[in-house]
Amino acid sequence: MLLNAYRFIAGNGSLEGIRAMLAGYRMYREQVSVTGEAAQLSFTRAWTLVRFYERGMLKPARCTCCGGRYVAHAHDLRRRFVCGLCMPPARVGRGRKAAPSAATG
Ligand SMILES: [Zn+2]
Repeated sequence: MLLNAYRFIAGNGSLEGIRAMLAGYRMYREQVSVTGEAAQLSFTRAWTLVRFYERGMLKPARCTCCGGRYVAHAHDLRRRFVCGLCMPPARVGRGRKAAPSAATG
């Protein structure tokens, strides 16, 4: 949501850099407050997110499983992107049973 607001404002050409970021963050906070949820992103985290996005480290991606739109690490996009809801990371719920034999030695 934040990146969409930022890209819209920056793409519009009227504001750029930190000003576009501030306007985008303000828009993000307004949208979140309408839903009554707490904002998940502090300004510092939002600014970091935008910087990573601008440097090409993060890219918009569409999940090949559910079709949802996400932001993903550029490295992950070399393969087919599947979101965390469709395929949770291995450490969630799995992988713990493989460890005990190593711990007894
Ligand atoms: Zn998905």
